[in-house]
Amino acid sequence: MLKEDRRENMEKEREILEKLKKYREMDLKYVDGRILGSMCTKPHPISKKIVEMFLETNLGDPGLFPGTKNLEEEVIKMIGEMLHNKNPFGYIISGGTEANITAMRVVKKMSREKGRKEVNIFIPETAHFSFEKAREMMDLNYIVVPLDKKYTMDVKYIKDYIEDNVEKGIDGIVAIAGSTELGTIDNIPEISKVAKEHNIYIHVDAAFGGFVIPFLEDRYRLEGYNYHFDFSVDNVISITVDPHKMGLAPIPAGGIVFRDSSFKRYLDVETPYLTESYQATLIGTRSGIGVATTWGIMKLLGYEGYRKIVSQCMENTYYLVKRMKEYSFEKAIDPVLNIVAIRDEDPVGTSLILRKMGWYLSTCRCVDALRVVVMPHITKEHIDRFIETLAQCKKY
Ligand code: PLP
Repeated sequence: MLKEDRRENMEKEREILEKLKKYREMDLKYVDGRILGSMCTKPHPISKKIVEMFLETNLGDPGLFPGTKNLEEEVIKMIGEMLHNKNPFGYIISGGTEANITAMRVVKKMSREKGRKEVNIFIPETAHFSFEKAREMMDLNYIVVPLDKKYTMDVKYIKDYIEDNVEKGIDGIVAIAGSTELGTIDNIPEISKVAKEHNIYIHVDAAFGGFVIPFLEDRYRLEGYNYHFDFSVDNVISITVDPHKMGLAPIPAGGIVFRDSSFKRYLDVETPYLTESYQATLIGTRSGIGVATTWGIMKLLGYEGYRKIVSQCMENTYYLVKRMKEYSFEKAIDPVLNIVAIRDEDPVGTSLILRKMGWYLSTCRCVDALRVVVMPHITKEHIDRFIETLAQCKKY
């Protein structure tokens, strides 16, 4: 390349980067502490170097990237161990949405194998909207289970429904470990008893809770609350667990883990022109960045690192509740995980006013409340500023 051309290229690159910077400056930043409603956070600093190293990897064609493929198997093994499964099978994919759709694909295929015409799945009222996408795509039939006093699935409703509809085959139960709105955990051991009796597949959506509950110290566990959610519970066949939420990995890094590799055949599609004959993930061409960053962050933090992060989030959760009390703001429930629901007569209206004041939080549907997810980027100082703004907004 001529010297002149090189100089021109450099000038062009500088201009492009300047323009990109301006766009990026329009975005909110986690460190400013004003993102209070997201389940994502600032990725762990080691991510930057890993992203650069794995930039060109493509797990859609794993024969070309055997090292990255090995890493994926190791990550799934590590996550499996965290979830009490010595023999896991799964993938690091684009997020919780893809993970839930993937699990529903398996439930549907298994149902078809049994010769059923309708795919019947119990799903809690609190289920994430990704299940609605799955329903639309696969024509699933959901039986929506109401919530009990704890805002968790009413297991008696499931039992009664099965008794009253014996002719209706039930293919699956979706349970949540760390619901999007409140952080509640369905009573999965109780659900498991019913599932075992009727040979039903349980899928647990632990997209958020998967990287919280295993590291939650006893002192943060509510008395009489059931925190069991993983493969140690019978009939739990698949779990969504997202590294790009409380796992601190950069987006995209979602996780789907199955009890074992026998479920792969329900996902496999023939791939005539790639280095491997079958592909199981929904997304074809997919970066290996999620795999490599998750591997690196999990190795670096280990159990102790995640325990500290979860404990800090829980301390800040309790601090928010304490500050709320000072201003007579009520919590809708005792926090189960690092999510606080603040009772409000008009949560949507209040959240819009707060947004105008520069604070971004969301609302609950199952109870009139504002919702704060106390992620690792939230500090006590942010909480103080937020509480004062909320008080101002409510003209305390
Ligand atoms: N499941 C639960 C419980 C969630 O809270 C979310 C997102 O917040 C999802 C699934 C979807 O995850 P994603 O946005 O990564 O697709």
